[in-house]
Amino acid sequence: MEKDRRQFIQKIGILGATTALTPNILWPKTSLAKPKLGVALVGLGYYSTDLLAPALELTEHCELKAIVTGSPEKIPVWQEKYGILDKNVYSYDTYDNIADNPDIDVVYVVLPPSMHAEYTIRAAQAGKHVWCEKPMAPSVADCEAMIKACADNKVKLSIGYRCQHDPNVQAYMKVAKEQPFGKVKMLTSAAGYFDGRANHWKQNKALGGGVLGDMGVYAIQGARLATGEEPISVLAQTFTTRPEIYHEVEETAMFQLEFPSGARASCQTSFGISMNHLKVTYEKGWLAMEPHSSYSRNKGSMSDGTVINFELNNQQAKQMDDDALALKLGKDMLVPGEEGLRDIRVVEAVYKAAALNDLVKL
Ligand code: NAD
Repeated sequence: MEKDRRQFIQKIGILGATTALTPNILWPKTSLAKPKLGVALVGLGYYSTDLLAPALELTEHCELKAIVTGSPEKIPVWQEKYGILDKNVYSYDTYDNIADNPDIDVVYVVLPPSMHAEYTIRAAQAGKHVWCEKPMAPSVADCEAMIKACADNKVKLSIGYRCQHDPNVQAYMKVAKEQPFGKVKMLTSAAGYFDGRANHWKQNKALGGGVLGDMGVYAIQGARLATGEEPISVLAQTFTTRPEIYHEVEETAMFQLEFPSGARASCQTSFGISMNHLKVTYEKGWLAMEPHSSYSRNKGSMSDGTVINFELNNQQAKQMDDDALALKLGKDMLVPGEEGLRDIRVVEAVYKAAALNDLVKL
């Protein structure tokens, strides 16, 4: 019976590609019919190779089914390692043909940030749900176009903020909501590492590089999630200690955010300094997380003696399973496109404040 239903759904899926039927009508059926949603990874660089593909071997609700790459030498390696069929291998030129492939339910865009908007919009137009890596895109305008394309094509969009799926991060988000220590007075949020590369997209403006989008979003997330508020003004400075490398984009940024409640956040981010913490002072207590935005072992403590130290087997697997299950159940994404946009709005304001050397209101 279930087999017949799946065959029927597959048939109408094929029919849908060749008739005026839109994928919008078909999606809920194809998604619900499968125990594991098929994921296509777009861009097979560090994050796909080292983190996402291995995590997709641990997931319950989704699996790696397809790859999209501009590097032909990677294809046999990935096919052999993950059993990817010839028909599920795409180049950037053949990418749009994913529309005709019922094996693919979700496209995960893991490309340099300047390519996120184009590959998200093309996936949405092909009728596929989209998971897009952070930073969502280099500009607010790009983020808005991505959200619109997904809404127009009735597919869901999620941003790869893995930390929001981590129970340790969810613990301090709960404090923001329940306010056991009263309101936030002031916080410090920092995210950085030493990047020794000189010629990567992270140092290239046109490809969406710069530390603000890359690591700065973690510092912004810390401030926004710990207050539960959106900033209303920004003061900022950007600078570099390696001008021979960081001449197009900033290596380090320091910025202050003011929130409607009066809370202030001091944020730091860098490609030259390793730092990873969040320290929040409330009216009647404090909370400290260190590390705060790592792949594993994020942990913290609070002034009342509470320890935050939840076990998490694999953060990326949890993220993708949460998102795949939400798709199967037709529920909202935990981290939708609108959340990525909120951070990019702050990133744009930080750039503006640094350029003007003055307060920028949001
Ligand atoms: P990477 O440089 O290792 O990989 C990028 C991939 O894009 C490569 O396979 C490269 O071949 C491909 N590509 C296609 N066109 C390109 C072009 N014109 N220039 C450069 N590369 C091109 O980068 P990465 O570290 O895997 O990052 C990819 C995305 O994943 C970024 O958005 C990054 O911020 C994000 N990321 C997220 C996390 C996280 O914790 N959520 C961690 C690492 C990276």
